[in-house]
Amino acid sequence: MPEILRPSFNTKELYGPQRTLARRAAVAGFGFWTGKDVLLEFLPAPENFGIRFLRTGLDQDPVPALLEYRAEKPHQSSLKAGPQRFDMVEHVLAALSGMRIDNCLVRIDGEEMPGIDGSARVFAEAIREAGAVGQNEPKRIRVLREPVRLEWDWGWIEALPSEKGEVSYRYELDYTNFESPSSALRKESFEILFPADPAAAVPLFEKEVAPARTFLTIAEARKLLELGLCTRVTPKDVVVFDADGPVENTLRFSDECSRHKALDMMGDFSMGGALILARFRAHCTGHVQNAELLKAILGKTGPA
Ligand SMILES: [Zn+2]
Repeated sequence: MPEILRPSFNTKELYGPQRTLARRAAVAGFGFWTGKDVLLEFLPAPENFGIRFLRTGLDQDPVPALLEYRAEKPHQSSLKAGPQRFDMVEHVLAALSGMRIDNCLVRIDGEEMPGIDGSARVFAEAIREAGAVGQNEPKRIRVLREPVRLEWDWGWIEALPSEKGEVSYRYELDYTNFESPSSALRKESFEILFPADPAAAVPLFEKEVAPARTFLTIAEARKLLELGLCTRVTPKDVVVFDADGPVENTLRFSDECSRHKALDMMGDFSMGGALILARFRAHCTGHVQNAELLKAILGKTGPA
């Protein structure tokens, strides 16, 4: 019998109680893909509620932000149940995870989340301004017991057991084997380790990860416009790379792209319904691979 890895740390002590918002927070904006104006609200929720999405005006139950409700849509993470659909949820989920909000009802009057600047900064700010309160139940944590790695021709993604109860994300971006879209977009990596204590982890997320914006190449941007998508988005809203670098824009970090990929990983992995204590590493992967890794590791994680 293989020895089952038992964590040597006490997650209840490390992570403390579940948290929700002290009061309602709201973010208005338009969806990048559809161009539609929407109002998103973060509402306080009871213990063990988790994160759920609800469409304003539809007489439906809220949809849990869990992998089983994930819907396939290119270049984004979506949730779907019955007549309710929620597109581009990854940055909203990353903000909730990074701000250590366990229980929240996300209510929105449209299908697509507001894109804002393509980062999680505005969502994180709204959550911070509303404030977080501790609840009675301990935070939901799952501990990865053994390494899991998935590989493709062009990249790989893996999760390794956490040693001291921390969670970390590393993303490696490498365009050297692809047609180079820009001299500013070649090879870079970013790694961040979040301590357990929200008092230390939340400011770290707000400073180092939340502001990192989504990016695309000028060729991808032209293709989307030809399809009639993203017509309201300008290069000032997101980072568009041409051969010389960002168009009409400057990077917030020299490694902003790989930071953004780490942000996407945080949002996507939160669809496990608990904070998964692991060291996540990825090389040239995206939302689909994040979902596949999450599916592969859920059976290999256990309660703390
Ligand atoms: Zn993203």
